[in-house]
Amino acid sequence: MDGTIKTDVLIVGAGPVGLFSVFELGLLDLECHLVDILDRPGGQCAELYPEKPIYDIPGWPSISAQGLVDKLLEQIEPFKPAFSFNRMVATLERLEDGTFRVTTDENDVFEAKVVVIAAGGGSFQPKRPPIPGIEAFEGNSVFYSVRRMEDFRGHDLLIVGGGDSALDWTLNLQPVAKSVTLVHRRPEFRAAPDSVNKMYALQEMKKLRFEVGQVSGLTGADGQLASALVKGPDGEIEVPCTRLLPFFGLTMKLGPIAEWGLNLHENLIPVDTEKFETSVPGIFAIGDINTYPGKLKLILSGFHEAALMAQAAKRRVSPGERIVFQYTTSSTSLQKKLGVR
Ligand code: FAD
Repeated sequence: MDGTIKTDVLIVGAGPVGLFSVFELGLLDLECHLVDILDRPGGQCAELYPEKPIYDIPGWPSISAQGLVDKLLEQIEPFKPAFSFNRMVATLERLEDGTFRVTTDENDVFEAKVVVIAAGGGSFQPKRPPIPGIEAFEGNSVFYSVRRMEDFRGHDLLIVGGGDSALDWTLNLQPVAKSVTLVHRRPEFRAAPDSVNKMYALQEMKKLRFEVGQVSGLTGADGQLASALVKGPDGEIEVPCTRLLPFFGLTMKLGPIAEWGLNLHENLIPVDTEKFETSVPGIFAIGDINTYPGKLKLILSGFHEAALMAQAAKRRVSPGERIVFQYTTSSTSLQKKLGVR
């Protein structure tokens, strides 16, 4: 055996849209393998805002982003999708028989009848602030996202930034942390005014500290942070802190997908709105990565796109086979696939 992994559908990206497409493809008997650069499923929901409630998922008046990912994983469980994490899909080659050979930066080789690009904004990486020596503390005391609020319990926390992430986490972590100091280079914020007002109210009550300035240096040893130097209008002050959360935004890079010969428009992949197929037949693009007139970058849009894409993918994999439209509520055969009958 040459180690090549064969699958009906290779899905690039295990964000919410990639996950839901397993369900729609599974109902049509298509087997899926998902590949993601991250170490777990969930895309932006799991990586950027797991504990935030989402209010516009149909049927869920409120659900945390990680809660949604967990529900999606439960929903696709009957189809037993395969996952490969911690690898970036690197190259794509169209074979003579119309199938695709795809490789990753870990040298995996996949052969798939259909490729679904559900790569969101591409590979996203937090922007590192220009603080000398910050690398030495990353992963121990400096974090660019909050995976679990509990990890910050009892810490002297320094949050830097002026956008929604900085303000949201200042407010959310204030009850958990031992102390919170927010640093932003000016007293005006880009965040929601309500969050800014709440932050100033907590400052009034002396429940947190806000300093205008920029972090100019860090002290500590062996990855353990002791304090940060903050340069402000009145000079430099030292702020004791054991955790630093800088929120300077994210860079999203399309990465190797840009080299696959697909038509691109401003780093997005144009698709039709019948099949959500790219300029290369057999390669589909759904979720945040695609563009078409009227596109909304919402999770629910991606779910709709997944349903229509799956119909077209099935027609490609099984040409000539009649696809009968069925409801999950009333179809015995779909219910058998879902294991509920
Ligand atoms: P993503 O979630 O971006 O997932 C794409 C995945 O592809 C990632 O895991 C990435 O690592 C992977 N990937 C990319 N390139 C490669 C590659 N070459 N190889 C391997 N893997 C790759 N939407 C709503 O509908 N409602 C909301 O309330 C809402 N709130 C939001 C709040 C915040 C703070 C943010 C940042 C976004 C919010 N969104 C919201 C937007 C929503 O999260 C996105 O629309 C959704 O995540 C898009 O899903 P996706 O699966 O298309 O892409």
